[in-house]
Amino acid sequence: MDSFFWIAKYVRKYWRYAALNIFFNLLAVLFSVVSITLVIPFLGLLFGTQEMVTEQPQFQANIESVVNVFYYTFSSVIIEYGKTKALMFICGLVALLFLLKNLFMYLGMYFVAPVRLGVVQDIRNQLFDKTIALPLSYFSEERKGDIIARMTNDVQEVEWAILTSLEALFREPLSVAFFLATLFFMNAQFTLIILVLLPITGLLIGRIGKSLKKTSEEGQLKMGLLLSMIEESLTGLRIIKAFTARVFMNNSFNQANQDYSTLMIKMYRKRDLASPMSELMGVLVLVILMWLGGRMVLNDVNSMNPAVFIGFIAVFSQLIRPAKAFTSAYYNVQKGIASADRIRYILDAPITIKDMPDAVAKPSFEKEIKFDNVDFAYGDQPVLKQINLVIGKGKMVALVGASGAGKSTVADLLGRFYDSPDENILIDGIPVKRIKLNDLRKLMGIVSQETILFNDTVFNNIAFGNSAATAQQVEEAARLANAHEFIEKMPGGYQTNIGDRGGKLSGGQRQRLSIARALLKNPPILILDEATSALDTESERLVQDAIQNLMKNRTSLVIAHRLSTVQFADEIIVMQQGKIIERGRHEELLALKGVYRKLYDLQSFV
Ligand code: ADP
Repeated sequence: MDSFFWIAKYVRKYWRYAALNIFFNLLAVLFSVVSITLVIPFLGLLFGTQEMVTEQPQFQANIESVVNVFYYTFSSVIIEYGKTKALMFICGLVALLFLLKNLFMYLGMYFVAPVRLGVVQDIRNQLFDKTIALPLSYFSEERKGDIIARMTNDVQEVEWAILTSLEALFREPLSVAFFLATLFFMNAQFTLIILVLLPITGLLIGRIGKSLKKTSEEGQLKMGLLLSMIEESLTGLRIIKAFTARVFMNNSFNQANQDYSTLMIKMYRKRDLASPMSELMGVLVLVILMWLGGRMVLNDVNSMNPAVFIGFIAVFSQLIRPAKAFTSAYYNVQKGIASADRIRYILDAPITIKDMPDAVAKPSFEKEIKFDNVDFAYGDQPVLKQINLVIGKGKMVALVGASGAGKSTVADLLGRFYDSPDENILIDGIPVKRIKLNDLRKLMGIVSQETILFNDTVFNNIAFGNSAATAQQVEEAARLANAHEFIEKMPGGYQTNIGDRGGKLSGGQRQRLSIARALLKNPPILILDEATSALDTESERLVQDAIQNLMKNRTSLVIAHRLSTVQFADEIIVMQQGKIIERGRHEELLALKGVYRKLYDLQSFV
């Protein structure tokens, strides 16, 4: 039930709307009760099955007196205006009462809509914000599709299952209590029997509720799996087609879909038990009361007044409806709680990479970057061992080595995309962990192997995150990145949309856009995951050129895949299995005739 209060916290912000909703609901209930109860006695008077009351009764605070006042008023209307007119009057009155009842019902719904959607909107916003704040390591442990499922499906489920039931959850217990109180006044002894039977019923209903929550949890997990499959298939469409893996993918999707449906069927069947079960329980209690009370009436009329007995049974039967509605609402909430738990799992995940309380500002880069005997492990798998590295201001250091050697990890640690437990990675002598995260990231520009572009215009992709960028600045960056020319030729120039992940551009063009983006940011430190290997010679030259422009007057850490591009590096670091095995300038390393030489010779043949 923890998650239930968690949602209630969101509702609090919209309490004004919630209060209006309750107010109009109460009015609607009042009018529906009044409209029915008015018509029957009126018709009774009209058709003579009820005697007219012609004497004005004394008003007293009991039910009998209230009823008499009603009869008196109606009787005087019939006497004064005649029966036909009185009938017309009652028809008009009924229409008016129902109009008002429905108006109030609508107003209730009118005011509950902003509560429902507001809560869902707030949760969704928070989820998105949290997702982009979480450290990268979080996502290597989780399925992307599952996260998407939590952000969409589960939020939807919270809206449908919980927020639509909230009203009933508050309203119906009130009605039940109201009826119980009435019953208690009518016959306390009998009401005690109900109160004894109530907890037994509650226990049974609660049991099923718990198992419902569990099934719902499994169902949402399966939905996450389905979304993962959809997401991965969309990204990997080309490979699925090329490897003719359609049947294979189809089969595994169908299987997962089938599992999901089976679970959902199970869940709906449990949920739908709510209504028949609570009605049956209610009727069972009713039957017990009828048996006990009926026998009392039959045996000795004095021990139980038949009229009171019938009234008691009638009022009790009215109690079954709100009890049923409450059980249904409760079951829906149980189902939704599973989703709320899943949402909270993301919201409560710790942000491990954040500013330390005493983080220092670092607006500029002055002297050097230093890795001082750095060891690092992902979990318990050691990846870096004794890395010693100094990059002076304005220098270029290149990391080379087989894939998996740990090059990207070095870069990730510098940008604090992963956190090392020690404080031995320093910028100007300050551990990166102690620098304000925003300042640290502002010092760095990143051009990665996998160009990350968004489905937006060229302009927005270059100016990314910098709302103050002017057209002139963006164009200047594009020119330096050798991108201006091809952008000009696009149908909408800088305002052309480049499609999902820049799908409408060639590999080289994408690279140059991401270089332009880094140029515009103009950071003093550059991390370059060099990625010219996939390009043709012409594109490569343009990209290389752009990279040269980007590196000018900057300090750069380059992860190099092609040795030809690092010959001018101030230092080349050769890594193998997390260790530095050779280091020096190009010529020195060649002369060493070691691993670098081997790599170089291998690539020269290509
Ligand atoms: P390189 O950039 O040289 O190819 P990486 O730094 O990417 O090498 O990876 C070094 C090692 O760390 C590899 O063995 C890789 O499997 C492992 N690794 C990389 N990222 C993670 C991660 N998020 N979780 C666990 N292991 C990882």
